[in-house]
Amino acid sequence: MTFDPNADIRSDNVRRAGGGSSGGGFPRGPRRGRVAIPMTGGGIGITLVVFVLAATGVIPASVLDSLLGAGSATGSGYEQPVQPHTRGGALTECRTGADANRNDDCLVQATVESADGLWSRIAPAAGIKFREPQTVIFSRQVATACGNATSATGPFYCPADSTIYIDTSFYRELQARFGSSSGQLAKSYVVAHEYGHHIQNLQGAMRGINRRSTGPQSDAVRLELQADCYAGVWARHAASTPGPGNSAPLLKPLTKKDVQDALSAAAAVGDDHIQKDVAGGQVQPESWTHGSSQQRQRWFITGYNSGEIRTCDTFSADRV
Ligand SMILES: [Zn+2]
Repeated sequence: MTFDPNADIRSDNVRRAGGGSSGGGFPRGPRRGRVAIPMTGGGIGITLVVFVLAATGVIPASVLDSLLGAGSATGSGYEQPVQPHTRGGALTECRTGADANRNDDCLVQATVESADGLWSRIAPAAGIKFREPQTVIFSRQVATACGNATSATGPFYCPADSTIYIDTSFYRELQARFGSSSGQLAKSYVVAHEYGHHIQNLQGAMRGINRRSTGPQSDAVRLELQADCYAGVWARHAASTPGPGNSAPLLKPLTKKDVQDALSAAAAVGDDHIQKDVAGGQVQPESWTHGSSQQRQRWFITGYNSGEIRTCDTFSADRV
């Protein structure tokens, strides 16, 4: 158990896209008139989907921040154009920490609420003008200010609408396909990483860097490792950060196992692990966009050990 069962995890900035409380996602079939970016083609192969979508401009890889590198797409790709998320709403079933401990959608919401509490306290001291991100829980596909995306993208953050997007069915893949442990902190790490991208967005860390660069020491990898470090900063303070209205912290004190679970998830989404163990191919460091398992774990731990934003300056490090 990770969240205090009695904690109040209600939120006004986490919502479900479309489909109402059942979370059914968008209806299949073409829609006209409301689609921000037209999509073309279909039947794209699993491992190529991110490359192809990036090439067609449907998912501009340079403007959304996914958890996973290209070539790691998890689903069957997009199917049809989708409507903007005009329906849906609050996750009314997510009220307490007990809900977060048994329901992954509620776990996402509770992690976001915890991160709101922490970052609203520590970001201003670091010169960051803080505002909370939005979070959208979707099913299969979603329209965003960064373009249309599908579950195949994995969880991501869109700077253009300051929103974290996640289809929590990803958690099954994280465990079954990518080999993460199934612990609660493994799941929260994913949210905290995307939240880290929001902090970077507020910081302006995404400006002036070469987002299209690849390789273990590239700007792209440094950006991802900084988000991992920020996830560690959150984890460090999660059990001591007051909940909404100065209530008790949302999380129970972390155990060694909790930290191991987060590290397990960080390793599971490492580029080398995905290229070799998940995709069954060669490790090609020159193509990395997110960093190796070891890099991702190391930067999570850097943030966790220090609990300080300034230790996450991956852009000033000689090597990351
Ligand atoms: Zn990322």
